[in-house]
Amino acid sequence: MMRALGLTTLCLLFLLVPPATAMGKDVDWKATVSEAVDTLQNYLRFDTTNPPGDVTEAADFLQKVLEKEGITVTRYEAAPGKINLLARLKGTGKAKPILLLHHMDVVPADASRWDGVDPFGGEMKEGHIWGRGAIDMKGTGVLQLYAFLTLARQKVSLDRDVIFMAVNDEEIGGTMGTRYMLDHHYNELDPEYVLDEGGFGSREIFVDGKLVFGISVAEKRALWLRLTAHGTAGHGSQPHDQNPNDTLMRALNRLFSSPFPTIPNPVLNALESQLGPLAPNRFTNAIRQTTISLTSLRSGVGDPPKANVIPSLATATLDARLLPGMDAEAFLAKVQSRLGDEIDVEVIHPASQSIVTPHDTAMYRALSGAITRHHPDATVVPMIIPYGTDSRMFRLRGAKCYGILPLLLSTELATSIHGDAERIPVDQFETGIRIYYESLVEAAAR
Ligand SMILES: [Zn+2]
Repeated sequence: MMRALGLTTLCLLFLLVPPATAMGKDVDWKATVSEAVDTLQNYLRFDTTNPPGDVTEAADFLQKVLEKEGITVTRYEAAPGKINLLARLKGTGKAKPILLLHHMDVVPADASRWDGVDPFGGEMKEGHIWGRGAIDMKGTGVLQLYAFLTLARQKVSLDRDVIFMAVNDEEIGGTMGTRYMLDHHYNELDPEYVLDEGGFGSREIFVDGKLVFGISVAEKRALWLRLTAHGTAGHGSQPHDQNPNDTLMRALNRLFSSPFPTIPNPVLNALESQLGPLAPNRFTNAIRQTTISLTSLRSGVGDPPKANVIPSLATATLDARLLPGMDAEAFLAKVQSRLGDEIDVEVIHPASQSIVTPHDTAMYRALSGAITRHHPDATVVPMIIPYGTDSRMFRLRGAKCYGILPLLLSTELATSIHGDAERIPVDQFETGIRIYYESLVEAAAR
């Protein structure tokens, strides 16, 4: 009887708690972290600024790290210097793959504004690794890489393939990167799940003083517009009522005079009902509603424009970001009606289709479970992100995509992305790698 009870308890425990080996209890995490730190410092030293976005050396470097472990790497060269890399840990094929996705290219950095730090130096300073791409997205890629390598080293047997993919070109739209891979090699990927950038953890950005991890399940859609006002040229000494600058100014005032009508959004509703009122900042403002930024105003005759000439043309560009589910045509009609007939509106980038990944899935539960094991006080929520990622293309192909950097970011760190002091905190590397690793074990191990 005692023995039977013991066995039952043991079996139950085995079912509820993943085995210690698989969960990495016997992994030398200190050594893994020190390798990951070294790898990221070196990875950041390859200048993969896009444009031009040549990632050859960075791809060579990642390939060497993987091949040193006996892992086969496949390279896909969309164009000279435009390389995509793929490595795979084979599973039994019982379920479709999980794809770890990151991009090797980075946005430009103005070195003169980096306060004595070389954006391509991979320097360690004050507990952080500094450099363009430290978070977006080489740092995220390195955390994924060491979770992937740990799966290989631990010889975790898998029920599905786990794929590590490094792409180029994300920062300028992904044509040579994810778009190329989807158009030419989708059958080699065909993932059920994609883990990408997007969400993160923070104690201040979502709700001040409350630890929240947001996992992105959808993104807002960019709709870019060019506005043109026509008028009659003339001498600045004699104002008249056909000045296109006046027309454009009045139209823009009407456009921004009141907020845009919003529509109920299930992701947002879930987020707000779980968290209560969000902290007031530009991030939470952007994830809650459709927004428009006035991004350029152009007018005048000559360069520099003559101060005494009324021009015949004035233009502006708008960057609108629509919440998923918002009807782009109806939104555009609203914009046009506020601007009035005097303004020509041209769509220069149409809003793509919006897909929301469900969060009632094994992968989401695995991520959420791993996060709360390492951060017991954390609330994990699905969220919409205000920026675009390569996930939008995978979602259109039916993959379930989750964007998560499993680290805590302060407002300062989060705003360093694309900014002048991008850096990633090293003391969170172990939890970051382990959250990815444990999630993969839970969602992919046999
Ligand atoms: Zn990115």
